[in-house]
Amino acid sequence: MRKAADVRIGIVGGGPAGSAAALALLDQGFQCSIIEKSSYSDFRIGEHLLPSARSLLGRLGMLEEMENCRNVGCPGVRSAWGGSALEDMDYLFNPHGGGFNLSRPEFDANLANTAVERGAELLVETKLTSASLQSDGWNVELNSQGKRVPGQFDFLVDASGRASALATRLGAKRISHDKLIGLTGFLSSSEPTASADDTNQENMLLLESSEDGWWYCASLSNHRIVVTYMTDAEKLKNDRPLALWSLALKSTKHVRDYCQSYHDPQEVHVRSARTQRLNRMAGKGWLAIGDAAYSFDPLSSAGISKGLSSGLHSAEVIKSYFSGNERALENYCAESVRDFDEYLIERAGYYRLETQWPNASFWRRRQKPLAVEQPITLDPEAHLYAAETWAPGGVFAASDEYLPGVNSALLSSLASTPTPAHQLISLYQVQTEKQNSDRDVIAVLQMLIDDNQLLVQTNSRFNGSQGGSVP
Ligand SMILES: Cc1cc2nc3c(=O)[nH]c(=O)nc-3n(C[C@H](O)[C@H](O)[C@H](O)COP(=O)(O)OP(=O)(O)OC[C@H]3O[C@@H](n4cnc5c(N)ncnc54)[C@H](O)[C@@H]3O)c2cc1C
Repeated sequence: MRKAADVRIGIVGGGPAGSAAALALLDQGFQCSIIEKSSYSDFRIGEHLLPSARSLLGRLGMLEEMENCRNVGCPGVRSAWGGSALEDMDYLFNPHGGGFNLSRPEFDANLANTAVERGAELLVETKLTSASLQSDGWNVELNSQGKRVPGQFDFLVDASGRASALATRLGAKRISHDKLIGLTGFLSSSEPTASADDTNQENMLLLESSEDGWWYCASLSNHRIVVTYMTDAEKLKNDRPLALWSLALKSTKHVRDYCQSYHDPQEVHVRSARTQRLNRMAGKGWLAIGDAAYSFDPLSSAGISKGLSSGLHSAEVIKSYFSGNERALENYCAESVRDFDEYLIERAGYYRLETQWPNASFWRRRQKPLAVEQPITLDPEAHLYAAETWAPGGVFAASDEYLPGVNSALLSSLASTPTPAHQLISLYQVQTEKQNSDRDVIAVLQMLIDDNQLLVQTNSRFNGSQGGSVP
């Protein structure tokens, strides 16, 4: 057991998750350094803050600070989803109050600066270039404003966003569930726009679905609006971002109206918005938080709140780890996978509400059944073996899209002779260093059986209803 005041934590990334972690760790008495690659003058995306974030900001002692920033109050969400008519979801009855449309670079810088005021070290324009774990902690090397600087930490937190810069350096892999991108334009007007208070209906967040994706618009400070088109990355193959954004805008109704009194943007920014998670979210002496651990579809508008809450939670986990709880990090990984699976179910629910384009690939990809929704019918004692007409592609490609990360071809190849299902799963998990949950592997096995790629020996006990059994 170590005293928090003697423990130095290095946090890679000073976005909402990293700064929230620093604030919560300082509160527990730890020493913290935030290693941030930018100087906060860069372009940042993600503006809408849900009302529930107010209680997280309150726990971080940041709620009053919000009044001093150029945020715009947001009274609710107006959406045309599942039909062309607009429907309002008003935050009026939300127990937390209204939401915010943030001035994002300012919000992120403000959180980090508050951490500094409370005792954190903030190294801007600094990147971690190497990290090696020794018996007495991490020896790291930083590139700080062009200079090589050595450092020493007892624990590292990866809060570097979707890049997962530390975790991937330590061997973790990203499992992506789609190829969503966001094309964002900032539009300005010379006319005064909506007032900043959170009762002004013009400040509602606007959502509109379209055949190849969906749009969101939010009013920001300084007579600006942000207009983002979410679609699949393949759409960018033939068009430049601005041309694609402008063309797609023409097929919208409400977003086009919303943009009418604003000047067209000169450029649009492209960002990955994939739903993804790491196969390992923690290891000896480190853990990943916020988007670095797992990231949500912006449809949820929950990425910033999740960053803040995972920063807060990480301080509890780290405290427990240094108090001698050997399972603290393992439990953290399991909890995170459970959260992510719950989110996948919620996301699928929203996408299934949109039925206007049943044949459009954007919607079909997101409306298929999820592994986590499938009942498990496979008998663990059933002996499985690969069919002689083993056909890579087909179901293998389908299962890769359906359940990214599970290597269905490897599963089939491990069943070259009849093998009990439970043994097959163990073999697979050992070979792949348990990159997926057993549940996901079972879901793919069931798919392979349904498709007759794997056969079931009938003399083994088998309660499932799948086909593919042979005498
Ligand atoms: C198009 C789009 C729209 C979105 N809209 C919303 C929205 O309306 N509402 C919402 O809640 N969420 C939204 N999100 C998601 C939201 O932006 C993220 O979930 C949130 O920013 C995650 O916070 P984070 O701190 O985990 O990561 P980030 O905000 O990505 O912060 C990571 C930090 O790490 C730094 N960094 C990166 N690499 C390194 C490195 N190697 N070394 C040091 N520092 C590094 C970065 O500069 C950054 O400061 C949107 C996302 C996209 C793509």
